[in-house]
Amino acid sequence: MMATYYSDRKCISATEKMNTNSSNMMALAPNTSKKRETVCIFGTGDFGRALGHKMIQCGYHVVYGSRSTQISNLVPKDAEVLSHAEAAQKAAIVIIAIQRQHYNFLTPLAEILRGKVVVDISNNLKLNQYPESNAEYLAQLLPGARVVKAFNTVSAWALQSGALDASRQVFVCGDDTEAKEMVMNIVRALGLTPLDQGSLLAAQEIENYPLQLFPMWKFPIFLSLGLTAFFFFYCLALDVIYTYIYEHNNFSFFIAMTIPNRICPVVALILLGLVYLPGVLAAIIQLYRGTKYRRFPDWLDKWMLCRKQLGLIALAFASLHAVFTLASPLRSFVKWRNAKPIISQALNNKTEPLDTTNAWLSDSYLALGIIGFFFFVLVGITSLPSVSNSVNWREFRFVQSKLGYLTLILCTAHTLVYGGKWFLSPTAYKWYLPNIYMLSLVVPCAVLVVKFVLIFPCVDKPLTQIRQGWERNPKSSEQSNYIINKSAV
Ligand code: NAP
Repeated sequence: MMATYYSDRKCISATEKMNTNSSNMMALAPNTSKKRETVCIFGTGDFGRALGHKMIQCGYHVVYGSRSTQISNLVPKDAEVLSHAEAAQKAAIVIIAIQRQHYNFLTPLAEILRGKVVVDISNNLKLNQYPESNAEYLAQLLPGARVVKAFNTVSAWALQSGALDASRQVFVCGDDTEAKEMVMNIVRALGLTPLDQGSLLAAQEIENYPLQLFPMWKFPIFLSLGLTAFFFFYCLALDVIYTYIYEHNNFSFFIAMTIPNRICPVVALILLGLVYLPGVLAAIIQLYRGTKYRRFPDWLDKWMLCRKQLGLIALAFASLHAVFTLASPLRSFVKWRNAKPIISQALNNKTEPLDTTNAWLSDSYLALGIIGFFFFVLVGITSLPSVSNSVNWREFRFVQSKLGYLTLILCTAHTLVYGGKWFLSPTAYKWYLPNIYMLSLVVPCAVLVVKFVLIFPCVDKPLTQIRQGWERNPKSSEQSNYIINKSAV
């Protein structure tokens, strides 16, 4: 029954996908047989031309409003070029492909543009450059127009070259629902995906999008670089400098393979622990406060928002560790180290018996690592938008939370089994410092211990109630911020 439902669902979603794809393909292909409405574009600059060209391909009749009505070679040949006033009269939708600083020229056109859908596509050079968004400014200049913000996140180059792979999403916002729908229909006809962002109040945020450079990735990237640099110098000191000073061995070549292969799993495990740490901290805060209706501290909010990025970077480090480990037998140092005991056994004419305890430990350590990595990849794949969009919230939570914790347990166990026998050995502490795999266990073990306590029924029950809206002291939370926090995964 479940299988049938699942396969039906898959068929439906596959059919839906095919339909969507084919509609996208149809929209992208020139459609001259069916003429659509006339659209006016103010400005024959880069964006105006690229958008006009694309619209003509999709069957729209385009009229440009320009300061110069002279036909230029650059303007699409099927388009008309008129004065602003003449062009605006020919269409119900007017797209303003002109920089905000020139918007003053629109004031005398306010009467002609009354009742028309006026689309603001402009961007700024800096974040929050003006007190109000360009779209709101346009709405102030043209009080009778139905202003909609759209297209600012698509580049002229992408429109013209057809390379719309970077992002097919077009954020749309506006106060007039009908106007917004008209613009979204154009977006769809161009083979793009409109995303309704609400009223014109959202315009400032939409205008800031193209100016941001991976905002959610900054903290995870800097953190992982910081950890990598710290552990690199830590390993350099213990594995190369210490050995050179006290054992007179030159192991400087460790910098190429050994040290990176120590750093990668350590950083991966710490980052994976940091993905789940904010969740347990949030649970402790909610239990302490007895309510979920109070804002978490800003740092915790920000940390929770970049968990996906932390997890993906951790996965990248884990993948590098897997590749380094697979390449390890090719190293001449490893070949020499493996050959040494065999040669000494041959010289002594004596075969060492198999140490089954060691065999168990090494096999378990490898098996835990392989299975942990498999689940890590599974969790990473599910966090990709194309996959997460195809599962429901419960399925997504199951993979990210349950399988995520399973991954953390397996990877922590992998490290524990690897180094377990050396924890109490004094030789593992060079210059009284622990080996880095011991440091890597601090965060994941702390997370797992707290999580273990949190799943006890006497703790889990009140926490679940709090997350369902129950409050220990409803009055105090009414006085404080009444902002609902996302319950921690
Ligand atoms: P552009 O190449 O400099 O073109 C701007 C056009 O504005 C000019 O060609 C001109 O058209 C018109 N114009 C210039 N000064 C004017 C004035 N004083 N009064 C009236 N019209 C004037 O700029 P663009 O790259 O096309 O960008 C246009 C808008 O689209 C900007 O707001 C930009 O933020 C936005 N945008 C651009 C891109 C992109 O990839 N380029 C992407 C997203 C959004 P006429 O000569 O025909 O009058």
